[in-house]
Amino acid sequence: MQLVILGSGSPLPAPDRAGPSTLVRTSAGDLLFDAGRGVLLRAAAVLSGAQAFRAVFLTHLHSDHVTDLNDVITTRWVASFAPNPLVVLGPVGTADVVAATEAMLGLDIGYRLGHHEDLTWRPGTVATDVAEGVVFEDGEVVVRAAPTDHAPVHPTVGYRIEDGGRSVVVAGDTVPCPGLDRLAAGADVLVHTVVRRDQIEAIGLPRLLDVLDYHSSVPDAAATAQRAGVGTLVLTHMVPAVQPGAEQEWIDQAAAVFDGEVVLADDLTTIELAPAGH
Ligand SMILES: [Zn+2]
Repeated sequence: MQLVILGSGSPLPAPDRAGPSTLVRTSAGDLLFDAGRGVLLRAAAVLSGAQAFRAVFLTHLHSDHVTDLNDVITTRWVASFAPNPLVVLGPVGTADVVAATEAMLGLDIGYRLGHHEDLTWRPGTVATDVAEGVVFEDGEVVVRAAPTDHAPVHPTVGYRIEDGGRSVVVAGDTVPCPGLDRLAAGADVLVHTVVRRDQIEAIGLPRLLDVLDYHSSVPDAAATAQRAGVGTLVLTHMVPAVQPGAEQEWIDQAAAVFDGEVVLADDLTTIELAPAGH
């Protein structure tokens, strides 16, 4: 199994960070977690892409995590030579968002159907709302969901992916919570979105202070990783933006609480997970 952070950015555009998106390459194919700004640009860099996604999993329906889902749906559709519906799973509301996205694309779908004689089918995305338990299974690959806590955004879910005796957890946006603790217990890698409480409080802007309510600070995420006994904590979706040269501060804040390895993600940060016993 291989983990690739496709987008390590936050809702605010940055020249070097795409929006939140994580690729987990498994023996059952490429699984995409969230579809933030620029997801297909970054996927192209690792020779993946819309046609390659075995399934797309959404942690929640905040715009920065789903903004390029429409690009994934359209690109898969127009680049396939036979019906190849995209499978999308996510918390309650996902099926509605997918239906609304395809409705938004209605004119474009009509233009392309009218123009390409060999394109006779619509995207036909298959969306399923999920809550807790096994949500995907194929060969050795099992994906489980559990509820996270990103209130007032509700419901939200995290995912645990297992393949070849190894495990990756994608937490999404959440404060520490029992659902994430269950999901992360003993995992090899935990991918966690984080904010810097100290910096946000120093800036003091009300709109920015609001994000503290429903995100984990770096020490919060590190404490979750420590309780769960994970091997590697990957920090991503950093708010505010990491200042050049300040990377070690973020890592040190986590390392003060967590004994394992800490990785501060960039776009295309990659972690290899060899099958257990190898
Ligand atoms: Zn969010």
